[in-house]
Amino acid sequence: MAEAVIFLGPPGAGKGTQAKRLAAEMGFTQLSTGDILRSHVARGSELGRRVKPILERGDLVPDDLILALVREEIAAIPHPKVIFDGFPRTSAQAAALDGLLSELGISLKGVLLVTAPEEELVKRLLNRAQQEGRSDDNEATIRNRLEVYKTQTQPLVDYYQKTGHLRKINGLGSPDAVYRSIEAALVAEA
Ligand code: ADP
Repeated sequence: MAEAVIFLGPPGAGKGTQAKRLAAEMGFTQLSTGDILRSHVARGSELGRRVKPILERGDLVPDDLILALVREEIAAIPHPKVIFDGFPRTSAQAAALDGLLSELGISLKGVLLVTAPEEELVKRLLNRAQQEGRSDDNEATIRNRLEVYKTQTQPLVDYYQKTGHLRKINGLGSPDAVYRSIEAALVAEA
């Protein structure tokens, strides 16, 4: 049966790490809009050139571009068991995703909200800056990304709470401990 899981949460909460592991262990395909955008930037595609300054500022890429990307990616997954990582990020994206899931007959298995205190997020992102050298992991951009999360993405917490799909995950423990909470939340959902 086609199904989807959404990872929601601020930058630095550990969504990407957990989404990768869940994909590997449970046979999902991880669809990370951030990774897809970064690969366009690295390849220097037309889309990459357009979004590069947006990513460097930590602002959001326009909804229409993101939705076109997501449609294209989903079409390439043969039997959709999808983890959405970093999408949706705005109310318009969430509404469009509802339509897309019902159009494709994909059921939403859960929305995992992974959180950690803001100072911990900043610390982790600055640490990642040193290790991975992502161009949006500098202090000014990190502060903007956290602000953008609060104003544009946090409202989705209420949206998914109302649908009954939201599961809160404490992102503060070790990666293993966080993963165990995710497994437990998905079992409870099944
Ligand atoms: P993080 O969660 O650490 O901010 P991501 O890899 O999810 O990292 O996103 C990096 C950047 O890519 C964002 O700051 C934004 O510019 C862009 N981006 C990713 N996903 C979306 C989306 N769904 N809508 C708009 N912009 C996005």
